Amino acid sequence: ATRGNIIDGFGYAKGLRERLGEKVAALKAEHGLTPCLVVVIVGEDPASQIYVKNKGETTKAIGMESRTITLPDTTSEADLLALIAELNADAAVNGILVQLPLPGHMSSLKVIDAIDPLKDVDGFHVQNAGRLAVGLDAIVPCTPLGSLMLLKDAIKTHGDGSLSGLNAVIVGRSNIVGKPMAQLLLNENCTVTIAHSRTKDLPAVCRGADILVAAVGRPKFIQGDWIKDGAYVIDVGINRIEVDGKGKIVGDVDFDAALPRATAITPVPKGVGPMTIACLLNNTLHAACLQHGLPAPK
Ligand code: NDP
Repeated sequence: ATRGNIIDGFGYAKGLRERLGEKVAALKAEHGLTPCLVVVIVGEDPASQIYVKNKGETTKAIGMESRTITLPDTTSEADLLALIAELNADAAVNGILVQLPLPGHMSSLKVIDAIDPLKDVDGFHVQNAGRLAVGLDAIVPCTPLGSLMLLKDAIKTHGDGSLSGLNAVIVGRSNIVGKPMAQLLLNENCTVTIAHSRTKDLPAVCRGADILVAAVGRPKFIQGDWIKDGAYVIDVGINRIEVDGKGKIVGDVDFDAALPRATAITPVPKGVGPMTIACLLNNTLHAACLQHGLPAPK
């Protein structure tokens, strides 16, 4: 197989959004349903504001309804929980996303747990995490879901299409990326290793990876010579750094050094990032179908 292929997450996400748009139109035509996503944002964090604005625009662009509820960062946890209860009870609302991080006086675990699991489009509710872990249908967190789609497509394009038996190493064990990614790859019959900050000899662990997923949150942390010859590399990291006084976004992998060794690798930006929002739309459609007893869209 060749080496040095760049995985076009931007292009894949665009195609996925187009396919979802067709399914949304079909749902409207056949069942009179228009999926509706509500994003709740507490406080004025500028990065979160940009994410939320993008989410709203892309949701509308594929024909779904989008509502944003902005609350001041002085909002009490009880008031936020009351709002979630209202949205849970509102049959017109199919997806509820509470933008993280929340202000320090709130427990994000408690808030996420208050969301109806059938409307939990982030897939962070313990019921969805548990269902994924035991292999039941679940709403799967967007970033790992999008990463798996890119990985499968790359292995189909550049390899034999099978993930079965491959050694997968995930660096990072967060509930929103590392752990669900591990569950997804286990379901694909990979042999999965989850590495983290206490892992001994991380470079050696990474060198055993046919599939390497980096979700660390440290710029260019994974070195080129940690990459096994011919590996598939998924770089989840989004790190803002300064180069010559200018802001730049880089991943967790030293891309230039890894590229010639990898069979295929996601760039940052335009790799996993655009897949996250596309998968949020996928999950909103999925949630709308679940709530109306319709089969999940394939
Ligand atoms: P967290 O900070 O929650 O988790 C980071 C993980 O990396 C932890 O498990 C931590 O280990 C591990 N880690 C930290 N330092 C090291 C080290 N020196 N060696 C080995 N492991 C280490 O981050 P997230 O999972 O939320 O996000 C990871 C990255 O992905 C970030 O850059 C984030 O911006 C990005 N991201 C991108 C998204 C997208 O849309 N593409 C969406 C979500 C996140 P330990 O548990 O031991 O502390």
